[in-house]
Amino acid sequence: MSDASDGTTPPAGRTCGDCTLCCKLMGVPELKKPAARWCASCDRGTGCTVYAERPPSCRNFECFWLMDAGFPDDLRPDRIHALAAFNDTPDSAVLHVDPAHPGAMGSAPVDALIRALLKVYSRVFVLCGKESAMLTR
Ligand code: SF4
Ligand code: SF4
Repeated sequence: MSDASDGTTPPAGRTCGDCTLCCKLMGVPELKKPAARWCASCDRGTGCTVYAERPPSCRNFECFWLMDAGFPDDLRPDRIHALAAFNDTPDSAVLHVDPAHPGAMGSAPVDALIRALLKVYSRVFVLCGKESAMLTR
């Protein structure tokens, strides 16, 4: 989704590589694309097929893994079937989990990610399809 998804503008020295998971998990209001459903313009594992014309929500989005080189490579969203991102509510983050991989919840890497997020944020909202939960310290 981000400027880095084609590998041309790597923030924090990173690029999305063949991760395209935000193009499934994130809702895109301009496209009326619901969360947890693949965008019709996504070439999965490759990138956005309408990159130059993608809407602002896509242009502006970066998951925490992309933004912060401190996140281990192993936590790249497509590897753990989950992505962490800023939330509109202060002092909180959102963890979007791919409902096609329900086993991701409770997996060691996602547990580690939640613990790391709760060291920084008071609350972590977990969304997985129609399921949601709020975790606190
Ligand atoms: S989830 Fe993160 S790493 Fe994956 S494509 Fe989106 S911004 Fe890039
Ligand atoms: S328009 Fe492009 S960047 Fe935005 S969700 Fe669809 S495939 Fe991803």
